[in-house]
Formats: sequence, structure tokens, C-alpha cells
Amino acid sequence: MLKQPQSMEELVYFTQRTIDNGYAKVWVFKQKCPKCKKAIMGKPVEKGAVKIRAKEYVCPSCKYTVDKEEYEDTLTASVEYICPKCMVKGEMETPFKRKNVQGVLTFRFACEKCKAMIDVTKKMKQPKKKGQVVLDE
Ligand SMILES: [Zn+2]
Ligand SMILES: [Zn+2]
Repeated sequence: MLKQPQSMEELVYFTQRTIDNGYAKVWVFKQKCPKCKKAIMGKPVEKGAVKIRAKEYVCPSCKYTVDKEEYEDTLTASVEYICPKCMVKGEMETPFKRKNVQGVLTFRFACEKCKAMIDVTKKMKQPKKKGQVVLDE
């Protein structure tokens, strides 16, 4: 069984959606600093507020800084899915690597049974409700 997140605070990325007749839920846990291993890497904090739009992650302990995309490529995504092709229900852990597919940032994984490629694309901008946590980008 995959480790389920207890709160959005633990996560770098979370999405849950239907894909044709299938379904995918993808989440990525924050991880410890690769340099000092003492603290969890996070977005920089300035005057007590997290800079959610920052393009880098910072270790709060040793201040090691890494580019957002470079950092996210090193993380592991947890995936629960129902394959839209063969309808198998599966789960896996796989590197959280995203790439541009026709101009849209896409996380792609293969169904373990039929090997169909399943794409989780970045959602188009949606109006945000007040207080809504949006990690789906
Ligand atoms: Zn560190
Ligand atoms: Zn399949």
C-alpha cells in the first residue's frame, strides 16, 4: 500500500481526476534536504509567509537552494489509477518527471498491465475560491 498524505502541507504536488473512463490520483511528498538531511525542503519563507510562486526550493536548515524543476525531477510520485484502456486498477511509485507535451506540462506513466501511456496534464487556469489550496500546477 502506498503511503497516503495526511495533509497538503506534506506535499509538493497533488491531483485527482478522471481520464476518459479511467482515473488517476497523483501525489508527491516533500523530501529532506539532500545536503544536510536535517530538514524538509520547502518554498522560501519571507517575513513568515511562504513564497508559493517561488521558482526554487530552500532547505530551512542549511539554506541549500535548488531550482524548482530540478528539485521536482528528483522526487518520487505516488500514483493510484484505473487504466482508461484496460480498466485495471493499480498503484505505483515512479520518478516525478514532467515534460512538455504539445505545450502542456505533463506527467506521464505507463499502465503496469497493458503498458498504455497515461497522461496527467497540467490543468488550465481555473478561478480560485478563497482559501482553496491549489497544488495542482
Ligand atoms: Zn539542508
Ligand atoms: Zn492498462
